[in-house]
Amino acid sequence: MSKTVLILGGGIGGIVTAGRLRKTLPRAHRVILVEREARHVFQPSLLWLMTGNRAPENISRPIDALGNRGIEVVRGNIERIDPARRAVQVNGTEWTGDYLVIALGAELAPEAIPGLAPAGHNIYTLAGAESLREARLKLNEGKLVVLVSGVPFKCPAAPYEAAMLLESDLRQRRLRERVSVAIYSPEPGPMTTAGPEVSAMLRQMVESKGIAYHPEHAVTKIDPQERQIYFTNNTTAKFDLLAYVPPHRAPKVVREAGLCGESGWVPVNRHTLETKYPGVYAIGDVTGIPLAIGKPLPKAGVFAHEEAEVVAHNIARAITGQGDAQTFQGHGECFVEIGDGRAGFGSGNFYAEPKPQVRLYPPSRWRHLGKMAYEKYWLFKWF
Ligand SMILES: Cc1cc2nc3c(=O)[nH]c(=O)nc-3n(C[C@H](O)[C@H](O)[C@H](O)COP(=O)(O)OP(=O)(O)OC[C@H]3O[C@@H](n4cnc5c(N)ncnc54)[C@H](O)[C@@H]3O)c2cc1C
Repeated sequence: MSKTVLILGGGIGGIVTAGRLRKTLPRAHRVILVEREARHVFQPSLLWLMTGNRAPENISRPIDALGNRGIEVVRGNIERIDPARRAVQVNGTEWTGDYLVIALGAELAPEAIPGLAPAGHNIYTLAGAESLREARLKLNEGKLVVLVSGVPFKCPAAPYEAAMLLESDLRQRRLRERVSVAIYSPEPGPMTTAGPEVSAMLRQMVESKGIAYHPEHAVTKIDPQERQIYFTNNTTAKFDLLAYVPPHRAPKVVREAGLCGESGWVPVNRHTLETKYPGVYAIGDVTGIPLAIGKPLPKAGVFAHEEAEVVAHNIARAITGQGDAQTFQGHGECFVEIGDGRAGFGSGNFYAEPKPQVRLYPPSRWRHLGKMAYEKYWLFKWF
């Protein structure tokens, strides 16, 4: 009998789930992907767009192109999810599935910090990365600040990469003497979930470039006129150009469906990504997966991708009866751009006990080329 898999979200997790299922399942079964945006943006490349090394069309693809691969694309806003019935409402129309995969990512909430949106550039969106690309060209002297405005946030390395790429860009434009670069973050250090060695190495990379790093600075508000940031520890910081990572939360439609646990994110079986509802899975940034050290699994595309592979395989297996069940084992890796055409590489197992086993390999030109090759490969493979 024909089955329907309904995939919510056309980001990294949703696209991989849909692509993998469409390859595996006979055409009698339907693979439907629901997405509100017209184009899929490969978010890791926003950092290159910000410094003028990419244009939007280089790093995005039309979501409807997935239709050429036999995936049914429904364009629209998901307004309601009924997980018990595996039903969703999209622009007023109801869709149901035998399986539901929730891959709706994290909702960005700059409005949660007074003054943040009018004061700076949200580097986690295409529009914000584009506006920063232009604004940086007008900064000839003063203070450039990269601000992390809340935890958790996706891609724990990204604000540090952003600061190093912007610093490198300033140096290439011979402005470094006149523009200071600083990072403020509520975290105790960069990428602490990966362990103290990785954190110390990344901090050293940042500070060796003369970037002032201020951990344990949680922002309360910003005065856009005065260009001043206020922190909970009663300190303040001035800026002339502000690039920020906004607060993250689970998407409204997911919260309203009662899918979130105490962490504010969707609890799942950490190996199978099953929710408490039969036939309903959640993957990627929308999930909250506690690790042995008490911190959550970081939000990153590499995990969304790997979880999608596991879920797609297991759904196909349930439908066709073929193959063995797979589990997600918590492995992840990422390139860490440091500017000047060089990147480090982090890799390891976040499910290892008693603590994650992760290594950060030193920056090289090859690793930067590896990151560029991966971007091209990803957009080619899935579109
Ligand atoms: C600047 C930056 C750099 C990054 N660098 C890296 C990196 O180097 N390595 C790495 O592993 N990760 C990186 N990431 C993180 C990575 O992009 C995310 O972790 C990943 O995209 C998460 O995948 P996802 O499928 O869970 O969510 P997303 O890819 O965010 O997709 C969610 C999708 O759901 C859609 N959606 C949401 N709500 C609705 C609704 N109500 N109706 C319809 N559609 C909806 C959204 O439009 C979106 O397309 C980076 C992120 C940023 C911002």
